Amino acid sequence: MHEFALAQDIVATITQQVKDDLEKITAINIEAGAYSGVVADSLAFGLNIIFTEKNLPDVKVNIVMVPTIAHCVCGREYELNEIFETCPQCGSFERKIISGMDIVINSVELSEE
Ligand SMILES: [Zn+2]
Repeated sequence: MHEFALAQDIVATITQQVKDDLEKITAINIEAGAYSGVVADSLAFGLNIIFTEKNLPDVKVNIVMVPTIAHCVCGREYELNEIFETCPQCGSFERKIISGMDIVINSVELSEE
């Protein structure tokens, strides 16, 4: 269960950041790259289990999938829909993936109290 390990990592990271404010969390917003290999529903499920275990069953987990963007040697940036796709401009496979490979914790919302 890759997603569950990932969910544990995410909660550990958030806990480090907010420390004693953990119980004030109302929502977390996560971006998952299309090529991160993560199934958003499984990740949300894992996060919900962990927050419930921490007595925080009301934390809302928002996961947004973001496209994978590649930067070609010819200078063109394009969205990758599948891994063997080549540059639409020059047909090259030489590129750098510039986004959409990672899981990013975008923001954590805390209650005002
Ligand atoms: Zn190109």
